[in-house]
Amino acid sequence: MPYDNDNIFAKILRGELPAFTVYENDHCLAFLDVMPQSDGHTLVLPKQSAQNLFDLDDESAKHLIITVRKVAGAVRDAFSPDGIRLMQLNGEAAGQTVMHLHMHIVPCYANSTPRSHAQQMAESDILEKHAAKIRAAIH
Ligand code: AMP
Repeated sequence: MPYDNDNIFAKILRGELPAFTVYENDHCLAFLDVMPQSDGHTLVLPKQSAQNLFDLDDESAKHLIITVRKVAGAVRDAFSPDGIRLMQLNGEAAGQTVMHLHMHIVPCYANSTPRSHAQQMAESDILEKHAAKIRAAIH
């Protein structure tokens, strides 16, 4: 299946749809997942129009992992989780629902299990507060 320029993340990357952005550079955009598995659940996308990991060129792959590490560090500083789960799904059979490559950063806690994937929409004012916390922790 070719890359669909009208997928929801392509529209966010073009600024046609809003997002709770936490970080942006020349190669990547990071924003909150609107159906978070835990507070601070963040997505990092390459700007390259890649549907999955196998479409990504080496330069974009390098920038993606560097950006994921930077943003995950800010999520860790902002929410102090016991651990951080990185997740990246390739193809519908793997559970991918938005066909633009993205890495999930999910804060995890020793005494609770993250909520289910893409199930419950969070409230906008709470998402905005969480995004601000992460933005403040980026360095
Ligand atoms: P995946 O199943 O790995 O493709 O994950 C897609 C993720 O995008 C899910 O966790 C959804 O909750 C999330 N999502 C869907 N639409 C939006 C949106 N407009 N803004 C932010 N996150 C979204």
